[in-house]
Amino acid sequence: MTATTPAIEGWFTTGEAPALIGSRCTTCSTVFFPRTEGFCRNPACHGEEFSDTELSRRGRVWSYTDAQYQPPAPYIPAGDPYVPFALAAVELPEGIVVLGQVADGFTVNDIKVGDEMELVVETLFVDETGERTIWRWRPVR
Ligand SMILES: [Zn+2]
Repeated sequence: MTATTPAIEGWFTTGEAPALIGSRCTTCSTVFFPRTEGFCRNPACHGEEFSDTELSRRGRVWSYTDAQYQPPAPYIPAGDPYVPFALAAVELPEGIVVLGQVADGFTVNDIKVGDEMELVVETLFVDETGERTIWRWRPVR
């Protein structure tokens, strides 16, 4: 039996309107992604408790690049042979920047700094256990 599951568990929701899952400090409300625990990284805060929070699904391109070379291990295989892909760092209204691949069908030629991007969940790879998904950034047209 095969299934569709996130390539990394607990980092994002799936469905019609997927969202990244971050942590919000219950003391100072600072948001972190990926999720955190232990102590708040805000130096002015002594908070130690966090609640899960879904991050904004849209943000703006802060920077981007073209991944022409296969990253070193540990590396989640996205294809064999290696297929270059675009990466975008997207600034969310929460004030954090989240790196992700650019959605299938788009290249660095399709984006520029300041463009609005929307979170989507796409297939990263398929193996004998099924389909694995990952979040990506898709230009909003
Ligand atoms: Zn805090």
